[in-house]
Amino acid sequence: MNDWNGMKVVLLGAGSAVPDPVRGNPSQAVVIDGEVMVIDCGERATVNLVRAGINPLDVGYLFITHMHWDHIVDFNYLLFSTWNCGKSTPIRIFGPTGTKRMCDGMLEAHHIDVEFVKRYIEQLPDHITNRPQPEPPIEVEEIHEGVIVETDKFKVTSREIVHLQPLGFERSSYAFRIDSEYGSAVFSGDTEPCDAMVELSSDVDVLVHECTFLEDILDYRQNMDGQKGAEKIAWTGHTGPRGAGWIAQRANAKKLVLTHLGPYDSPPAAIEMASMYYGQRRGPEIWSQIIGEAKETFPGPVIIGEDAMVIPVNDAT
Ligand SMILES: [Zn+2]
Ligand SMILES: [Zn+2]
Repeated sequence: MNDWNGMKVVLLGAGSAVPDPVRGNPSQAVVIDGEVMVIDCGERATVNLVRAGINPLDVGYLFITHMHWDHIVDFNYLLFSTWNCGKSTPIRIFGPTGTKRMCDGMLEAHHIDVEFVKRYIEQLPDHITNRPQPEPPIEVEEIHEGVIVETDKFKVTSREIVHLQPLGFERSSYAFRIDSEYGSAVFSGDTEPCDAMVELSSDVDVLVHECTFLEDILDYRQNMDGQKGAEKIAWTGHTGPRGAGWIAQRANAKKLVLTHLGPYDSPPAAIEMASMYYGQRRGPEIWSQIIGEAKETFPGPVIIGEDAMVIPVNDAT
Protein backbone atom coordinates (compact mmCIF):
# COMPACT_ATOMS: atom_id res chain seq x y z
CA MET A 1 0.00 0.00 0.00
CA ASN A 2 1.49 3.33 -1.03
CA ASP A 3 1.55 6.32 1.27
CA TRP A 4 0.40 9.32 -0.76
CA ASN A 5 1.73 12.01 1.53
CA GLY A 6 4.47 14.21 0.11
CA MET A 7 5.02 14.32 -3.66
CA LYS A 8 5.35 11.23 -5.80
CA VAL A 9 5.63 10.54 -9.51
CA VAL A 10 3.84 7.42 -10.71
CA LEU A 11 4.57 5.98 -14.16
CA LEU A 12 1.27 4.69 -15.53
CA GLY A 13 2.64 3.70 -18.92
CA ALA A 14 6.35 3.67 -19.72
CA GLY A 15 6.01 2.27 -23.23
CA SER A 16 5.76 3.72 -26.69
CA ALA A 17 3.02 4.19 -29.30
CA VAL A 18 2.71 0.50 -30.14
CA PRO A 19 0.86 -2.40 -28.48
CA ASP A 20 3.25 -3.74 -25.84
CA PRO A 21 2.12 -6.16 -23.13
CA VAL A 22 5.14 -5.18 -21.00
CA ARG A 23 4.64 -1.40 -20.99
CA GLY A 24 1.53 0.69 -21.63
CA ASN A 25 1.40 3.83 -23.78
CA PRO A 26 2.86 7.00 -22.22
CA SER A 27 1.11 8.29 -19.12
CA GLN A 28 2.11 9.50 -15.66
CA ALA A 29 0.52 10.66 -12.44
CA VAL A 30 1.75 13.05 -9.79
CA VAL A 31 0.30 12.75 -6.30
CA ILE A 32 0.82 15.61 -3.82
CA ASP A 33 -0.61 14.91 -0.35
CA GLY A 34 -3.29 12.74 -1.92
CA GLU A 35 -4.17 15.20 -4.69
CA VAL A 36 -3.94 13.40 -8.05
CA MET A 37 -3.05 14.80 -11.45
CA VAL A 38 -2.44 12.79 -14.60
CA ILE A 39 -0.03 13.79 -17.36
CA ASP A 40 -1.08 12.20 -20.66
CA CYS A 41 -3.52 9.36 -20.80
CA GLY A 42 -2.23 6.60 -23.05
CA GLU A 43 -3.71 3.14 -23.33
CA ARG A 44 -3.75 1.39 -19.89
CA ALA A 45 -3.49 4.65 -17.88
CA THR A 46 -6.70 4.11 -15.93
CA VAL A 47 -6.05 0.48 -15.05
CA ASN A 48 -2.47 1.31 -14.05
CA LEU A 49 -3.75 4.01 -11.69
CA VAL A 50 -5.54 1.15 -9.94
CA ARG A 51 -2.42 -1.06 -10.09
CA ALA A 52 -0.47 1.70 -8.35
CA GLY A 53 -3.14 2.02 -5.66
CA ILE A 54 -4.76 5.25 -6.86
CA ASN A 55 -8.55 5.52 -7.11
CA PRO A 56 -9.34 6.99 -10.57
CA LEU A 57 -12.21 8.94 -8.97
CA ASP A 58 -9.52 11.03 -7.25
CA VAL A 59 -8.06 12.39 -10.52
CA GLY A 60 -8.52 16.16 -10.43
CA TYR A 61 -6.40 17.25 -13.38
CA LEU A 62 -5.32 15.92 -16.75
CA PHE A 63 -2.45 17.67 -18.54
CA ILE A 64 -2.09 16.62 -22.18
CA THR A 65 1.30 17.16 -23.80
CA HIS A 66 0.05 16.66 -27.38
CA MET A 67 -2.68 15.01 -29.38
CA HIS A 68 -0.93 11.83 -30.53
CA TRP A 69 -3.11 8.80 -29.92
CA ASP A 70 -0.66 7.08 -27.60
CA HIS A 71 -0.98 10.05 -25.21
CA ILE A 72 -4.78 10.39 -25.20
CA VAL A 73 -6.37 7.09 -26.17
CA ASP A 74 -7.37 6.09 -22.62
CA PHE A 75 -9.00 9.46 -21.91
CA ASN A 76 -12.46 8.26 -22.93
CA TYR A 77 -12.11 5.25 -20.65
CA LEU A 78 -10.94 7.39 -17.72
CA LEU A 79 -13.82 9.81 -18.22
CA PHE A 80 -16.66 7.35 -18.73
CA SER A 81 -15.56 4.83 -16.12
CA THR A 82 -15.25 7.57 -13.48
CA TRP A 83 -18.42 9.43 -14.51
CA ASN A 84 -20.38 6.19 -14.38
CA CYS A 85 -18.95 5.41 -10.92
CA GLY A 86 -20.21 8.72 -9.52
CA LYS A 87 -17.27 11.10 -9.91
CA SER A 88 -18.40 14.16 -8.01
CA THR A 89 -15.85 16.75 -9.16
CA PRO A 90 -14.80 17.50 -12.74
CA ILE A 91 -11.48 16.55 -14.28
CA ARG A 92 -9.81 19.82 -15.26
CA ILE A 93 -8.18 19.21 -18.62
CA PHE A 94 -5.34 21.35 -19.97
CA GLY A 95 -3.94 20.67 -23.40
CA PRO A 96 -2.67 22.14 -26.67
CA THR A 97 -4.65 23.53 -29.56
CA GLY A 98 -7.14 20.87 -30.57
CA THR A 99 -7.96 19.67 -27.06
CA LYS A 100 -11.51 21.11 -27.09
CA ARG A 101 -12.19 19.59 -30.49
CA MET A 102 -10.86 16.24 -29.30
CA CYS A 103 -13.10 16.34 -26.20
CA ASP A 104 -16.19 17.36 -28.19
CA GLY A 105 -15.49 14.70 -30.79
CA MET A 106 -14.93 12.05 -28.14
CA LEU A 107 -18.24 12.88 -26.42
CA GLU A 108 -19.96 12.77 -29.80
CA ALA A 109 -18.40 9.38 -30.57
CA HIS A 110 -19.75 8.18 -27.22
CA HIS A 111 -23.14 9.89 -27.61
CA ILE A 112 -24.99 6.70 -26.68
CA ASP A 113 -22.97 6.47 -23.44
CA VAL A 114 -23.63 10.15 -22.65
CA GLU A 115 -27.36 9.57 -23.12
CA PHE A 116 -27.17 6.28 -21.25
CA VAL A 117 -25.71 7.85 -18.10
CA LYS A 118 -28.25 10.69 -18.19
CA ARG A 119 -31.21 8.28 -18.45
CA TYR A 120 -29.70 5.93 -15.91
CA ILE A 121 -29.32 8.59 -13.20
CA GLU A 122 -32.87 9.86 -13.77
CA GLN A 123 -34.27 6.56 -12.64
CA LEU A 124 -31.90 6.09 -9.67
CA PRO A 125 -33.78 6.20 -6.33
CA ASP A 126 -33.28 9.47 -4.43
CA HIS A 127 -31.58 7.78 -1.46
CA ILE A 128 -28.55 6.92 -3.65
CA THR A 129 -26.40 9.97 -3.06
CA ASN A 130 -23.07 9.08 -4.70
CA ARG A 131 -24.68 9.24 -8.10
CA PRO A 132 -23.12 10.42 -11.37
CA GLN A 133 -23.34 14.11 -12.21
CA PRO A 134 -25.90 15.04 -14.88
CA GLU A 135 -23.18 16.11 -17.35
CA PRO A 136 -19.79 14.54 -18.18
CA PRO A 137 -17.42 15.78 -15.43
CA ILE A 138 -14.85 17.69 -17.47
CA GLU A 139 -13.65 21.27 -17.82
CA VAL A 140 -11.38 21.95 -20.78
CA GLU A 141 -8.78 24.66 -21.32
CA GLU A 142 -6.36 25.10 -24.22
CA ILE A 143 -2.98 26.36 -23.07
CA HIS A 144 -0.09 28.64 -23.93
CA GLU A 145 3.38 28.66 -22.47
CA GLY A 146 3.69 29.74 -18.85
CA VAL A 147 2.03 28.99 -15.51
CA ILE A 148 -1.23 27.19 -16.30
CA VAL A 149 -2.36 26.17 -12.80
CA GLU A 150 -1.35 27.51 -9.40
CA THR A 151 -2.90 26.40 -6.11
CA ASP A 152 -1.70 26.62 -2.51
CA LYS A 153 -0.16 23.15 -2.99
CA PHE A 154 1.43 23.18 -6.43
CA LYS A 155 2.22 25.08 -9.60
CA VAL A 156 2.18 23.72 -13.15
CA THR A 157 4.23 25.39 -15.87
CA SER A 158 4.09 24.53 -19.57
CA ARG A 159 6.72 25.03 -22.23
CA GLU A 160 6.53 24.46 -25.97
CA ILE A 161 8.95 21.78 -27.09
CA VAL A 162 9.88 20.34 -30.49
CA HIS A 163 7.68 17.49 -31.63
CA LEU A 164 4.79 18.28 -34.00
CA GLN A 165 5.78 21.87 -34.81
CA PRO A 166 8.33 20.89 -37.51
CA LEU A 167 5.41 19.31 -39.41
CA GLY A 168 3.42 22.57 -39.27
CA PHE A 169 1.22 22.05 -36.20
CA GLU A 170 1.27 25.30 -34.19
CA ARG A 171 1.03 25.33 -30.36
CA SER A 172 0.81 21.56 -30.53
CA SER A 173 3.39 20.05 -28.16
CA TYR A 174 4.19 20.97 -24.56
CA ALA A 175 6.27 19.73 -21.66
CA PHE A 176 5.08 20.29 -18.10
CA ARG A 177 6.84 21.13 -14.85
CA ILE A 178 5.14 20.63 -11.48
CA ASP A 179 6.54 22.39 -8.40
CA SER A 180 5.43 21.94 -4.80
CA GLU A 181 6.88 22.53 -1.35
CA TYR A 182 8.32 18.98 -1.58
CA GLY A 183 10.19 19.38 -4.85
CA SER A 184 9.71 19.34 -8.58
CA ALA A 185 9.13 17.04 -11.54
CA VAL A 186 9.24 17.61 -15.30
CA PHE A 187 7.52 15.56 -18.00
CA SER A 188 8.89 15.97 -21.50
CA GLY A 189 6.03 14.46 -23.46
CA ASP A 190 7.47 13.76 -26.92
CA THR A 191 10.30 16.01 -28.05
CA GLU A 192 13.60 16.33 -29.79
CA PRO A 193 16.38 17.47 -27.46
CA CYS A 194 15.91 21.25 -27.25
CA ASP A 195 16.85 24.30 -25.19
CA ALA A 196 13.26 24.68 -23.96
CA MET A 197 13.52 21.30 -22.19
CA VAL A 198 16.77 22.38 -20.54
CA GLU A 199 15.27 25.65 -19.33
CA LEU A 200 12.05 24.08 -18.05
CA SER A 201 14.01 21.35 -16.24
CA SER A 202 16.43 23.67 -14.45
CA ASP A 203 17.51 22.03 -11.11
CA VAL A 204 14.51 19.68 -11.22
CA ASP A 205 14.36 16.74 -8.78
CA VAL A 206 12.86 14.19 -11.18
CA LEU A 207 13.10 14.54 -14.95
CA VAL A 208 10.82 12.08 -16.73
CA HIS A 209 12.10 12.22 -20.28
CA GLU A 210 11.07 10.34 -23.37
CA CYS A 211 13.59 7.94 -24.87
CA THR A 212 11.72 6.74 -27.91
CA PHE A 213 14.58 5.64 -30.13
CA LEU A 214 17.88 3.89 -29.67
CA GLU A 215 20.84 5.91 -30.90
CA ASP A 216 21.46 3.62 -33.92
CA ILE A 217 17.80 3.84 -34.99
CA LEU A 218 17.86 7.62 -34.51
CA ASP A 219 20.99 7.89 -36.69
CA TYR A 220 19.37 5.77 -39.39
CA ARG A 221 16.06 7.62 -39.36
CA GLN A 222 17.69 11.04 -39.50
CA ASN A 223 19.26 10.16 -42.83
CA MET A 224 16.88 9.05 -45.55
CA ASP A 225 19.37 6.63 -47.08
CA GLY A 226 21.03 5.66 -43.85
CA GLN A 227 24.20 7.51 -44.81
CA LYS A 228 25.72 10.13 -42.56
CA GLY A 229 25.69 13.47 -44.30
CA ALA A 230 22.68 12.81 -46.52
CA GLU A 231 20.96 16.09 -47.30
CA LYS A 232 17.38 15.26 -46.43
CA ILE A 233 16.92 14.90 -42.69
CA ALA A 234 13.81 12.90 -41.80
CA TRP A 235 11.54 14.12 -39.03
CA THR A 236 12.09 12.17 -35.84
CA GLY A 237 10.56 14.43 -33.20
CA HIS A 238 12.05 12.20 -30.53
CA THR A 239 15.05 11.67 -28.29
CA GLY A 240 17.52 8.85 -27.66
CA PRO A 241 19.36 7.96 -24.41
CA ARG A 242 22.28 10.33 -25.03
CA GLY A 243 19.93 13.19 -25.85
CA ALA A 244 17.91 12.63 -22.68
CA GLY A 245 21.12 12.52 -20.64
CA TRP A 246 22.32 15.70 -22.35
CA ILE A 247 19.12 17.51 -21.31
CA ALA A 248 19.40 16.21 -17.72
CA GLN A 249 23.05 17.21 -17.46
CA ARG A 250 22.58 20.70 -18.87
CA ALA A 251 19.53 21.27 -16.65
CA ASN A 252 21.29 19.97 -13.53
CA ALA A 253 18.47 17.46 -12.94
CA LYS A 254 18.87 15.29 -9.83
CA LYS A 255 17.45 12.14 -11.39
CA LEU A 256 16.59 11.02 -14.92
CA VAL A 257 13.71 8.63 -15.55
CA LEU A 258 13.48 7.28 -19.09
CA THR A 259 10.08 6.52 -20.58
CA HIS A 260 8.36 6.09 -23.98
CA LEU A 261 10.46 2.93 -24.33
CA GLY A 262 10.22 0.51 -27.23
CA PRO A 263 8.95 -3.09 -26.99
CA TYR A 264 12.51 -4.43 -27.17
CA ASP A 265 11.96 -7.61 -25.18
CA SER A 266 8.22 -8.01 -25.72
CA PRO A 267 6.56 -11.01 -27.39
CA PRO A 268 7.40 -11.54 -31.11
CA ALA A 269 4.13 -10.11 -32.47
CA ALA A 270 4.87 -6.75 -30.78
CA ILE A 271 8.43 -6.70 -32.16
CA GLU A 272 7.28 -7.64 -35.67
CA MET A 273 4.55 -4.99 -35.74
CA ALA A 274 6.90 -2.21 -34.61
CA SER A 275 10.05 -3.28 -36.48
CA MET A 276 10.12 -0.19 -38.73
CA TYR A 277 10.66 1.90 -35.60
CA TYR A 278 12.55 -0.40 -33.26
CA GLY A 279 14.29 -2.98 -35.43
CA GLN A 280 14.53 -6.58 -34.37
CA ARG A 281 14.23 -8.18 -30.96
CA ARG A 282 16.96 -7.16 -28.52
CA GLY A 283 18.06 -9.14 -25.51
CA PRO A 284 17.60 -8.03 -21.91
CA GLU A 285 21.02 -6.34 -22.13
CA ILE A 286 19.27 -3.54 -24.07
CA TRP A 287 18.33 -1.88 -20.77
CA SER A 288 21.89 -1.63 -19.50
CA GLN A 289 22.94 -0.37 -22.95
CA ILE A 290 20.31 2.41 -22.73
CA ILE A 291 21.43 3.35 -19.21
CA GLY A 292 25.06 3.30 -20.34
CA GLU A 293 24.35 5.63 -23.26
CA ALA A 294 22.40 8.05 -21.05
CA LYS A 295 25.25 8.03 -18.53
CA GLU A 296 27.69 9.06 -21.28
CA THR A 297 26.08 12.49 -21.07
CA PHE A 298 24.54 12.53 -17.55
CA PRO A 299 26.49 11.51 -14.43
CA GLY A 300 23.47 11.25 -12.11
CA PRO A 301 21.05 8.37 -11.47
CA VAL A 302 19.23 6.98 -14.53
CA ILE A 303 16.09 4.86 -14.13
CA ILE A 304 14.43 2.71 -16.80
CA GLY A 305 10.70 3.34 -16.46
CA GLU A 306 8.22 0.57 -15.75
CA ASP A 307 4.44 0.65 -15.43
CA ALA A 308 3.10 1.41 -11.93
CA MET A 309 6.57 2.49 -10.74
CA VAL A 310 6.35 5.02 -7.88
CA ILE A 311 9.18 7.57 -7.59
CA PRO A 312 9.38 9.80 -4.49
CA VAL A 313 10.25 13.29 -5.68
CA ASN A 314 12.43 14.38 -2.79
CA ASP A 315 14.32 11.12 -2.39
CA ALA A 316 17.75 11.70 -3.94
CA THR A 317 18.64 8.00 -4.25
ZN1 LIG B 1 3.96 12.07 -30.18
ZN1 LIG C 1 4.35 9.39 -28.06
